[in-house]
Amino acid sequence: MDKITKALALNNEIKVSIAKTKEIANQALKLHDLWPSSISVLAKTLTLGAIMGKMLKGHDALTIKINGNGPIGNIVVDANALGEVRGYLDNPHVNFINNSNILDDKTAIGLDGFIEVIKTQNLKTNFSSSVEIKTGDLANDFTYYFFISEQALTIILLNLSITKDASISESNGLLIQVLPKASEETLNFLEKTFEGFKDTASLLSKTPTDILNTLFKDDYSILEESSLIYNCNCSKTNFSKGLATLSKKDLKHIIDEDEKAEITCNYCKKVYNFSKEDLIDILNKK
Ligand SMILES: [Zn+2]
Repeated sequence: MDKITKALALNNEIKVSIAKTKEIANQALKLHDLWPSSISVLAKTLTLGAIMGKMLKGHDALTIKINGNGPIGNIVVDANALGEVRGYLDNPHVNFINNSNILDDKTAIGLDGFIEVIKTQNLKTNFSSSVEIKTGDLANDFTYYFFISEQALTIILLNLSITKDASISESNGLLIQVLPKASEETLNFLEKTFEGFKDTASLLSKTPTDILNTLFKDDYSILEESSLIYNCNCSKTNFSKGLATLSKKDLKHIIDEDEKAEITCNYCKKVYNFSKEDLIDILNKK
């Protein structure tokens, strides 16, 4: 079971979230038939989404949209405070490997565009913020996002490991939020520890407790451990509402020409069939 561990550390001056998302990443891989760069980018965005979703309360939710005008196109991830996450991207079949044999997220995402985060409360949008994509490295770009849109200092590490048989062996994320009361000593410690940090994969492959021990010795306390899951809550009712937003003219056209409609959910690939009667019913209720 995927999970998130939340802790306070360094004299309670930082908040730490550690997400283990291997099952979510494998679920996305299977649902969307993703090639290596596509899974690398989507899994990291799902991991970030899961962490950011768990920063919300109650039934609040958020959507992350990324588009750098690269070959991958749009990347969309929904997450909520319950630990549910789902996502998709425009092009599942992208693969770029750089000279060091490492997946090149930057080329896959592209550098000409934005990261947008939309937060919803009681099904109403109450916050939306976007920043330019600066580096194409999602950990860096989301650090920038938090700084610009929430005036928050964060440190983000993300990693994904793919086996030779193309399944995912590791998908992990770490997000540290520096609280406003943080002392100079804490800031210096973080800078010394994470400046040019190279051991992301080996650090994040450890258990959450071992990660906390490695980074902070015994100066931490775990606040919460809870599960994370890939879950799509789509339904025929929701897609009916989508169809109802079409104009009467367009609906009549579908009824006369196609006599049915078939809609596939972007997030989970479930197919919903609407018969002629269903469509007439939707039209009559308008
Ligand atoms: Zn769905």
